[in-house]
Amino acid sequence: MTLLDARQLVVKKIDELKERVNKLKTKPSLVIIRVGEDFASGKYVANKIRKCEEVGIESKIIHLEESVKQESVEKIILDLNKDENVTGVLLQLPIPKHLDEDYLTNLIKDEKDVDGFTIGNMGRLSLGLEGNIACTPRGIITLLKEFSVDIEGKDVLIINRSNIVGKPLAQLFLKENATVTIAHSKTKNLKEKILMSDIVVSAVGRANFLKSEDFSPNTTIVDVSINFNEEGKMCGDVAKTDYEILLNEKQCNLTPVPNGVGQMTVIELIEQTIEIAEKKESR
Ligand code: NAP
Repeated sequence: MTLLDARQLVVKKIDELKERVNKLKTKPSLVIIRVGEDFASGKYVANKIRKCEEVGIESKIIHLEESVKQESVEKIILDLNKDENVTGVLLQLPIPKHLDEDYLTNLIKDEKDVDGFTIGNMGRLSLGLEGNIACTPRGIITLLKEFSVDIEGKDVLIINRSNIVGKPLAQLFLKENATVTIAHSKTKNLKEKILMSDIVVSAVGRANFLKSEDFSPNTTIVDVSINFNEEGKMCGDVAKTDYEILLNEKQCNLTPVPNGVGQMTVIELIEQTIEIAEKKESR
């Protein structure tokens, strides 16, 4: 039915966000801590910085060596927590194995945790309280609403139970009054569950994991994954060769990869940074 392409929405959002930044007394500032040389992380960070510039917020990368000691990262985060000029802090994941990812993520002050990953922010989301929310799940709901996809009362299947996608997303769908099922690698009868769902979110991380025959007509399919095929081209979990059948024959809605959920994640990150700054100024 509809390709849920995020590009136009991103252009619209950038204009809106620029206006909101202009209304602030102080420009928001985002600090991204990157450790090591992970290639994909480098690309994601560069993209985040580019979007900050487009919207007009300050941004800075603290790029640390792969061998950096835990205590050094700890000190940087604690200093950023105290720095009045810093609105949001983000620790770009993954980080090298010798560093304690959970501990360092949680060291970021809840208020400055633009990724919404701390125990405090995840807890608030589970309790239905106000706080920062993980950006990919936020972006998925924004994208579905933009295309007027009905969520209330719908059967939603999320194939992913990670802390950054599946768990926070389940809470957001519950908030929108959907009936939510979370599936994972140990789930039985996955194919039946997919066929019975109105909205299917896939974040398995495997190219061609889902084909057109897996879906019932009129399903809304949200493909979160970022995979690379044999030719090095970016793709999601849904087979690209089946887009045509899904959209035209089965009348499904589908988020493309690229230009779908990934675009939304970055824009939500910027919006959340601006929201933090707005709340601070209104206090
Ligand atoms: P992850 O932690 O590896 O999660 C993968 C999930 O898929 C797990 O819950 C896993 O189950 C499940 N799974 C694996 N094989 C399965 C199978 N055969 N049947 C059913 N479920 C299966 O990865 P992640 O960090 O959440 O990321 C997932 C994907 O989303 C990646 O491709 C990542 O690049 C992408 N991503 C994109 C964005 C974006 O902005 N677009 C943001 C975040 C992530 P178990 O829990 O049982 O292992």
